[in-house]
This record gives sequence, structure tokens and C-alpha cells, in this order.
Amino acid sequence: MLCPGRRRMIGLLGGTFDPVHHGHLRPALEIRDRLGLDEVRFIPCGQPPHRSQPREPARVRALLVQLAIQGEAGFIMDGRELERQGPSYTVETLESFRAELGEEAGLCWIMGADAFQGLPEWHRPKDLLRLAHIVVAQRPQEASPHPNPALDRLIRGRVCDSPDMLAQAPAGRVTFIEVTRLAISATAVRALLAAGRSPRFLLPDRVWDAIRRQELYGWRENMRGKIE
Ligand code: ATP
Repeated sequence: MLCPGRRRMIGLLGGTFDPVHHGHLRPALEIRDRLGLDEVRFIPCGQPPHRSQPREPARVRALLVQLAIQGEAGFIMDGRELERQGPSYTVETLESFRAELGEEAGLCWIMGADAFQGLPEWHRPKDLLRLAHIVVAQRPQEASPHPNPALDRLIRGRVCDSPDMLAQAPAGRVTFIEVTRLAISATAVRALLAAGRSPRFLLPDRVWDAIRRQELYGWRENMRGKIE
């Protein structure tokens, strides 16, 4: 329940989710609990700007996210990028959240430490920090990255030692949170499925069941010969 006067805090996790797996879900849960987030929105992208097109269409990836987060308090599938034409730029997604949730809501854009290194190359990075906080999910004892002067300039004066300081402002701060990062990637899940091998326990059973039932990621085709 939201206490009176307390800022509403919302985590935002964008991704291709092709398909969603435990490497997305567990860090999201740990960050929700560490920051006391009211919600975490999972935002599958329609057309990713920086990479090849996803294997499955947006509506399928969204359905799998929906199945994965079912029953988890505050976890919400947010389909706003799915209908948008052209590349899904994060800054435009944040503008749409700001318009919907108002100036006072705390928006926390969650990203991995690797993606964070590339932040200066994102579309309108300064606006991104005007619209949201950045929460960097780090593995314990993650090695220090190479020097990155563009990133240093972008985040100068914004880094908070304590994640609790994020709730004092709606946007503009950067913090690092240690999470259990599981060495799982959607690429590895797709490779298993392409080889007709089971990805079970890398993703929720409900997601695996739907992949088999609906013959996603070429599952039936790849199994031919193994079951016959
Ligand atoms: P792919 O292998 O297809 O590139 P992916 O598994 O990296 O996909 P994305 O949908 O691209 O998944 O990732 C969405 C978000 O989740 C990104 O911010 C990414 O850094 C983060 N993420 C993905 N996998 C992990 C993981 N194993 N642990 C922590 N964060 C992860």
C-alpha cells in the first residue's frame, strides 16, 4: 500500500524478451525489493533499434512475458512499444510514461552493466536522464569496465552511493545494485530450441509449456527426427 506523501516508484525493464527467461526475472525481483518499487513494468520492444529482428513477433513475446510474471506482485506487462511504428527508442517510451504517470512519479530505468557502458550512444541520452533514474544491475564483484569518458561526463554529479536516495527525486540519478545475475541469455535459449534440446529450468515452466504447445521458435520442426 502506498503511504501518503511517499513518491510512487516504478521500475522499467525494456528488452526484446525473445523469449523471457530467469535472467530477466530474478534481477527484476531483487531490484523491486531493494528499492521498494511499487511496480516493475516489463516492456517488450516492437522493433529494436540496435539489433537484428526478433525471432518471434511482438505479440508472442508479450504473451510469454505475461505468462512468466503471472502472480508476482507488482510485475506488469506493458505493451506500449508493441504498436509503435519504427524503432523503439527508450527516450520516447519514457516520455510516454511521464505523460501517463505525471511529473512526480519516480521512474527507474533498469539496465545491465554492459548496456550501461553504451548509454552515451543511445538516442538523446541527456533527455533520458531528465526523464528517469538509471538503475544498473551489477553482478557482485563485477570487474571495473574500461575508461569511458563519454559516460563519465553524462553521469557526472548524478551517482548515488545509496539506492535509497532515488526516492527523493522523480528522475536524474544513477545507482548501482548488486543482483544475482544468472548466466542465461535468450540467445542461448533459442540455440537450445533450434537444436531440439530442452531449455527447461532456464525459464519459467509456464513459458516452456507455451513454447511447446504453440510450437514457437521452430520447436516442433527441430524435434522432428528426435521423436519420430
Ligand atoms: P539476447 O540473448 O537475445 O540478446 P537477452 O537474454 O540479453 O537477449 P534482452 O531481452 O536483450 O535479453 O534483455 C533485456 C534486459 O535484461 C537487458 O537490460 C539485459 O541487460 C537484461 N538481461 C538479460 N539477460 C540477463 C541476465 N542473465 N542477467 C541480468 N540481466 C539480464
